[in-house]
Amino acid sequence: MPTRAAPLLVGVGIALLAAPAAADPEARARALHQEAIVVDGHNDVSTLILDFGFDLGMDGGRPDGRGYWPWFALPWLPFRPAPEALRTDTDLARMRAGGLDAEFFSIWVAPRYYDPERPGLATRRALAMIEAVREQVRRHPDELALATSVEEVLSAAGEDKLAVLLGVEGGHAIEDDLATLDRYHALGARYMTLTWSFSHGWAGSEGDDGQDRGLTDFGRQVVRRMNQLGMLVDVSHASDPTFWDTLAVTRAPVIASHSSARALAPNTRNLDDDMLRAVAANGGVVMLNFGGVFLDPRKVGYLNLAANWLRHGFSLPTTLAMLADHVEHVAHVAGVDHVGLGSDFDGTLFLPEELHDVDQLPNLTLELARRGWSDADLRKLLGGNLLRVFAEAERIAGETPRSAEVR
Ligand SMILES: [Zn+2]
Repeated sequence: MPTRAAPLLVGVGIALLAAPAAADPEARARALHQEAIVVDGHNDVSTLILDFGFDLGMDGGRPDGRGYWPWFALPWLPFRPAPEALRTDTDLARMRAGGLDAEFFSIWVAPRYYDPERPGLATRRALAMIEAVREQVRRHPDELALATSVEEVLSAAGEDKLAVLLGVEGGHAIEDDLATLDRYHALGARYMTLTWSFSHGWAGSEGDDGQDRGLTDFGRQVVRRMNQLGMLVDVSHASDPTFWDTLAVTRAPVIASHSSARALAPNTRNLDDDMLRAVAANGGVVMLNFGGVFLDPRKVGYLNLAANWLRHGFSLPTTLAMLADHVEHVAHVAGVDHVGLGSDFDGTLFLPEELHDVDQLPNLTLELARRGWSDADLRKLLGGNLLRVFAEAERIAGETPRSAEVR
């Protein structure tokens, strides 16, 4: 018996020794996440940087794992918290721990800075926020690098720095002036969200009674100018007519920088299946929002949320599985070439319990690997798709002389 059992035991022993490296899917997914180029489409920590003096080098982590300054209430607090006291979703150490390689910092012009009666107010606000983010790059030259092209994203990643990208949130920020759009582009902005939650002169938003309005002729000129500049056109926050008008006029692929799937959560900030297919046909990418109001139908709409709170006693966790379901829905309907990440960190509510900080990004990769996603598909989701779209926008811009008349 020993003579026959020995080879068997040796064989089992070799299999056991080999097993951890070859078959530990968690280790494999973690390694893939760290190695992949990870790009996030939307982060609002820039508002905390400008208004409250937060520095990305500070520790914005939450020692208790829960309590944090509600960013949305900050402007109305009767006192200003010290920047060190802010509890944020984002800081340098956690972006690094989360394996993030490139982040679009949102240049969000809040509605109180937009008043057609006060020309220049919105522009000054946008310029101040761009400057505040660029100042972060100057303060942390060993860890951050401003990136305005795919090449610069890749070279930052090669130097083990986080690529800082700028995205203007809300077309009202250009105050109806293409020269202002050009100026934001010259300062590094590489996308613009056509509207925020309110409609303005040239585009309807999903967030107010302009939701039946699309683009005006000037709005179409803005999209064409963005195509010429190589600035990504962002349809998040747009009304449905604005979305369709944009898809009809753009020559470059579009992005939705922070929106999820309307079929799973009926929030008009999300894209329905026809829109997902249209973005796929256009070659663009839908970058999923991690916020519970975008993922969980129980949290869509204040009344609905209040009713569900009453019913469930405030116990309505947003789960990582919900986010993974949205990712898989977009990948199923639009295709895996058209899905990406748009966390909305420091700008949204009810983040998943397992993904409430930027350092927990690998948890999504792990969850999808568990669901059978291949390495190649995970790389596309994590950043490959956005970089492909960005490169295509650059190529199309290169085809058109900048001085060409915008028609
Ligand atoms: Zn937004």
